[in-house]
Amino acid sequence: MIPAGFEYHAPRSVADAVKLLGSLGPEAKLLAGGHSLLPMMKLRFATPAHLVDLGRIAALKGIAQVGDEVHIGAMTTEQDLLRSPLLAQKVPLLTEGVGWISDPQVRARGTLGGDIAHGDPGNDHPALMLALGASFVLTGPKGERIVKADAFFKGLYDTALAADEILTQVRIPIPAAGTGYSYQKLKRKTGDFATAATAVLLRMSGGKVTQASIALTNAAPTALKATAAEAALAGKALDEAALKEAARLAMSLCQPMEDQRGDAAYKTAMCGEMTRRALQAAAARCR
Ligand SMILES: Cc1cc2nc3c(=O)[nH]c(=O)nc-3n(C[C@H](O)[C@H](O)[C@H](O)COP(=O)(O)OP(=O)(O)OC[C@H]3O[C@@H](n4cnc5c(N)ncnc54)[C@H](O)[C@@H]3O)c2cc1C
Repeated sequence: MIPAGFEYHAPRSVADAVKLLGSLGPEAKLLAGGHSLLPMMKLRFATPAHLVDLGRIAALKGIAQVGDEVHIGAMTTEQDLLRSPLLAQKVPLLTEGVGWISDPQVRARGTLGGDIAHGDPGNDHPALMLALGASFVLTGPKGERIVKADAFFKGLYDTALAADEILTQVRIPIPAAGTGYSYQKLKRKTGDFATAATAVLLRMSGGKVTQASIALTNAAPTALKATAAEAALAGKALDEAALKEAARLAMSLCQPMEDQRGDAAYKTAMCGEMTRRALQAAAARCR
């Protein structure tokens, strides 16, 4: 399949990219790794008249600790995330989650910003970002604004990004030392999206949960934060009854779409199972 014709632009700075978006209007689309956009263009689900490639803007790449946060440029590739010693040490949930994304070819070009901005609930970063309490820097003609992950994902392929804004940076608070973590993902084969997946950060003290952060992939039109399950675990030992109740509360949020990965009942049940497994694995890593 061949995409419809388009004009290609390759700005060298964020300011130039924002100016281009403003002047070209709604017929322009940003291009990052192209692993979601180009398939849509080849199928002619998307027919932008202009592509604004962010790939030559060096300022959009990189991973750095800034105070008690890790800041990651939106054009940082999955491969760079996976290979980052800083992330492995400070935000291992992200390293683990990225390892589940597709295959080495997709990870070599796909970017953190593109995965988030696409607004696909089947992508893994949205739930990872919700569990981590991340914030996103959105840059537009009026400057920068910061939007928390839990206010960013509005619906299927719908986010808080305005048409003339670029997601430029992701900011992740570094979890306290000793925080348990796990990303459990059920997929049919290498390279597939999640049938269901759950991201967990967990803190425990004296055998009881002091803090839980739980987020779900591909369970609804957006990634979901399972806040009721989080609240139900507070102060409890992570025994069979607590796991069952947390899984039940996570499942009660699910409204998955039926597709080749299964019907709604199966996907909902798998979301419960991934939640249970992620909590158990995170608990085993708590110090
Ligand atoms: C075979 C295959 C399997 C895959 N499996 C998985 C998987 O298991 N898990 C997973 O998470 N993903 C998966 N993906 C998706 C992949 O991770 C994509 O790379 C990702 O969804 C989009 O990132 P990108 O950099 O390629 O963005 P692009 O495809 O270039 O862009 C995607 C969309 O986001 C917009 N955009 C991109 N960057 C920005 C920005 N900085 N600011 C504002 N808007 C922006 C674009 O305009 C476009 O609308 C898979 C893709 C393929 C082809």
